[in-house]
Amino acid sequence: MFVDTHCHLTMMAARGESVDDVVRDAARVGVAKILTIGTTLQDSLASVEIAQRYDGVWATVGMHPCDCTQGWRKDFREIEALCCNKKENKIVGLGETGLDFYHQPFFKQRQIDAFVAHIECALEHDLPVIVHIRESLDEVLAVLEKYKNELTGVAHCFSQSHDIAQTLVSWGFYLGIGGPVSYPKNGSLRELVRDILLENFLLETDAPFLPPQQFRGKTNYPKYIPMIAQVIADVKGVSLENVGVVTSRSVEKLFSMPSHSKSTLSSL
Ligand SMILES: [Zn+2]
Repeated sequence: MFVDTHCHLTMMAARGESVDDVVRDAARVGVAKILTIGTTLQDSLASVEIAQRYDGVWATVGMHPCDCTQGWRKDFREIEALCCNKKENKIVGLGETGLDFYHQPFFKQRQIDAFVAHIECALEHDLPVIVHIRESLDEVLAVLEKYKNELTGVAHCFSQSHDIAQTLVSWGFYLGIGGPVSYPKNGSLRELVRDILLENFLLETDAPFLPPQQFRGKTNYPKYIPMIAQVIADVKGVSLENVGVVTSRSVEKLFSMPSHSKSTLSSL
């Protein structure tokens, strides 16, 4: 019924969480599918490994702009190689990519070069991109505009204006909504959710980060997706089920995540 389109199961494992428990607890509350997002070459390899272990988990591969080191091109070649086997590796997207001019020190041109490399790879392998935007909106838009209508993806943890939302949607992007939509000070984000068509949003936790209001300061989990969906349902005046159905349909449009890849294959 629900999909967590953005979490970091590898980081949860590194914090001592049992991925078995995390995935099972999520499934119990209807979060049947999870996308675990890669942030470095090593993390992407680990994400692919986790995805292969669970029926309901898929991976994206990429380098977070904050992890864009001097030797990124070498690591990126290996990420590209992983995409050549996207089916076997259960890779459904490129990222987390994008631009972050908040965390110091950052190298603008290097991040832009890496972002473009992710986009080119995504287009080559017919995959969407997961885009991180922080203090970098103009630069991100300048890059994405060049690929409008040929590229698809998600603006992860969307927190921009109505105008920017409409622009990104018109370019083929979905808007990722997570725990911050429940924060008391985020009235403007709730207004945006109210005003923009539900079919443009995807649910995401960014777990273990950014928990919903009830759990602030604690670890976030994919099982909290229904709480985020409930905020969206309340704001839009629709049912929780409706949010699940519509956002899951968008997931199907954007990502290729067949339900039971193994059983489908064996029945062919
Ligand atoms: Zn993330």
